[in-house]
Formats: sequence, C-alpha cells, structure tokens
Amino acid sequence: MSFDHSAGSTLTGCMPRPDVPLTSSVPNSTGILLEPDLPICQGDLPLDRYEDAFRPYAEEYLALPDRTPETVLPWLDRYVAPARDHFGDSLLLLAHFYMGGEIVKLVERYGGAVSDSYVLALQAMRRPEKKVIVESAVHFMAETVSILAAEDQSVWITNPRAGCTMEMMAKDWMVNPVAALLAERYGDDLAVVAYMNTSGRLKALAGRTGGAVCTSSNAHHVVQSVRDTGRRIFFVPDEHLARNAADRIGLERVAVLPPPHLIPRDAELKDLIDLPTLDRADIIAWGGYCGVHTVFQVSQVQWWREAGWEVHVHPECPIDVVRAADGAGSTNYLWKVVAEAEPGARLAIGTEGHFVRNAAEQASRRGVEVRHLADIPGTPAAGCGCATMSRNDPPHLAGMLDLLRKGEAPDINRVLPGDVVDEASGSRTRMAESDRASLVRDAAAALQRMIDITEAAAS
Ligand code: SF4
Repeated sequence: MSFDHSAGSTLTGCMPRPDVPLTSSVPNSTGILLEPDLPICQGDLPLDRYEDAFRPYAEEYLALPDRTPETVLPWLDRYVAPARDHFGDSLLLLAHFYMGGEIVKLVERYGGAVSDSYVLALQAMRRPEKKVIVESAVHFMAETVSILAAEDQSVWITNPRAGCTMEMMAKDWMVNPVAALLAERYGDDLAVVAYMNTSGRLKALAGRTGGAVCTSSNAHHVVQSVRDTGRRIFFVPDEHLARNAADRIGLERVAVLPPPHLIPRDAELKDLIDLPTLDRADIIAWGGYCGVHTVFQVSQVQWWREAGWEVHVHPECPIDVVRAADGAGSTNYLWKVVAEAEPGARLAIGTEGHFVRNAAEQASRRGVEVRHLADIPGTPAAGCGCATMSRNDPPHLAGMLDLLRKGEAPDINRVLPGDVVDEASGSRTRMAESDRASLVRDAAAALQRMIDITEAAAS
C-alpha cells in the first residue's frame, strides 16, 4: 500500500501537474465539468427542513419542473449573480469535496473554491481581500475558517444544521472529563491532537496542552512531531485515523477508549480501559468514527483487486482496509489519483458516495473507470454519502447569497468560534465574547502548529 504524499496540496482537473506548494492560497479548479447531460440530482429536502427565511427559495426550487442544469442554473443565477455583482471580489464561496456533487459544481461555476478541510481552513487567513465567506460544508469546517479569519471577515454557512456525525461523537462536554482524568494521570506529559473534525472548543483544548490540530492528509506528520517531543498523545475523535497515522510511522501502542455512548458519567479511567495498557500507549484514541467510512471491509478490497482494479481509500477507514488497499489518503489525494489515472485505468475508491459519483462522472470522460468500493456487483449497494453535509442544497445557497445581499441574512447562519449548533433543533449556543477570545487564541495556536508541521514536512 502507498500513502498520500501530497499533504494539503491542491488539485487541478484531468491533467497531471506538479504539486502545488503548501503556501498556495487558492485551490485550483477541481476540473469538475457542469454539462447539460449531467443532471442535478441531489435529493430534495422537505419544505419543513428550511428555516423561515429560506422557505421562499425552497418553495420556488421545489416547484421547478426538473433538476437539469438548463432549469436550475437560470433560477440560481437570479439570486447568485446580483450577490456576486454586489460583493464583487470580497465574496468567497467554499465547498468541500463531499458536498452533493451539484453544490460542488455550482460553487465552482460561481468562482468558488472546492477542496479538502485543510485547504478550506486556510482560505480566510490566506485571502484577506475576501470579506464575506460563504461555506457549503459541515459546521466544524466553517467554524475553523472563522477561527483563522480577521475581524473584518465574516463567515457564513448555508445550513447550520449540517453537522458531522463524527464531531457529534466528541462534544466538548463528553471529552473534557476524560481529558481531565488523563491530565491528572500524565500531567504535562500529555498533548491533545484534535482532528479537524472537532469543534473549536476541542481545538482550543489541543492548543492549551501544547498539541495540534491535524487533518487526514497530515495526521502522521502531526503525530510524529508531537511524539518527537516525548509526549503521550490523546487523539480525538477518530480511532481509525489515529490507528492509521500511528501505523504509518511505526507506532504500535495505540489504546482506544470505548465508544462515547458507553462512557458513563463520572467514570474513572480504570472503568474505561485496562490501566497498564493505557500507561504503555503512545497514543490514546477517543472511540469516535465516521459511519460513512466504516462500512468498508477487507473482503471488498480483495474482491476489486482480484478483479484487476486498483483500490484507494480514505484513512478514516478501518486499519485492515487501509493496509489491504493500494493507497490511502485525504480527499485531495483520492481526487488526484483519479485525475491522473491513465485512460483504461480501473479504480475502486473507498470514501464518501457523492465524491465517488463525481469522480466517476468526470473520469469516464477520459476512459477511466471509477467505482465505489462497497458497490460490488450482485450485492446490495452499501456505500453512502455524507447526508448531513448535503443539507447545504441549491435553495440554501441561493437564499444565503440573496439574504446577504439584502442585508437580511439570519444570524443563525453566521459562524463564530465556539458556536455549538444542535443539529436536530437548529438552536445555537454562542460563547461570551471574552471566552471566545481565549478560545480563538488557543485553537489558532493548535492550527498554526499543524500548518508549521505540514509545511516543514513538505519543504
Ligand atoms: S464524511 Fe463522515 S467525517 Fe466526513 S463530514 Fe461526513 S460524517 Fe463527518
């Protein structure tokens, strides 16, 4: 198996190109084409899932006769074009690769940037001329942009209910008591490494312990760097990324805590894990995971490889799957594998379903076949998309931009560091300004350590 060596780089479309330096500020085009024969087929949300301000846009969208670009684009243009004229160069649209393919295509069509969470996180900081930043992705990604944003940059999410189920398994009120027990046992010997898929509150915890944030593209570099200081790591929230990062740099002693729903209130460490195992561990991993990536099995990898296909997977997959595959890496890595494959290549990709569908559509135009790793012919399709991310649909994009232009954007869509949104009710808890300032200081320190480690590794 090979690994992604392009940590944090960005991509071009269908033509191979040299790695973009990590300091590159603007993601290149993904190369995704929006053509009349590619239908806009993102599932519609029911009308009652829209906040009041967005409902008129949803009603119009749901009344459109179909979801073809010929129908949807003129409707979107009615709202997006005036907003782009109004804000000019100060407007920045962002989307993650896992968004429904439609939003990815639409955001790029309107001059926006599509990339992985590492590159997206840097956008406000690296593009100070952008004052209004609108993200179509999950909430922690927008919050990370806001942590690194300047005072005169505002960050908005088109649907604040777009949460990440992995992040939901590691809310600060779940993690903090366990972190306190570990700090009591190991003192300054313990550093927290927070995966990007955490709230700003946990990124701040990493900063306070002298730890760092990481992404799937740089987790092994970050873990190695912290271990080089001789400290034990508490890795939150993804046990699989923790295991895969450790495996990649030859660390064998990973102790995994129970799944968060099995951790009783007021638990002691001895209730959670065998203490000698804990004391021997280089990495103590929180027991969170991504349901989208844990459906994959070694037998699926074997099936595709025996059929002559190359297999590449995301490191949120279980370690046995990653070891069995031909390669593993972040979404940027996976996109690059597909974009640079020679005509005639056959690739099975183990990651989020919308991403694979987009990749397959684009690759087929160059004679490259791409399949979802779980979609083995003759078996029930098991692969799935990130349903929460796809709550950012065309009506939310149209409404967000139109409401911003009119000065009527709902405050619930504004993203500030420390915000916690209840994905079920849509309600939000916002920190007092003084608490937010210290969160930004600590979380930004953890993010900056990640950036420094990643750029040093690339140089
Ligand atoms: S794919 Fe999984 S980890 Fe990624 S945003 Fe969706 S739920 Fe979170």
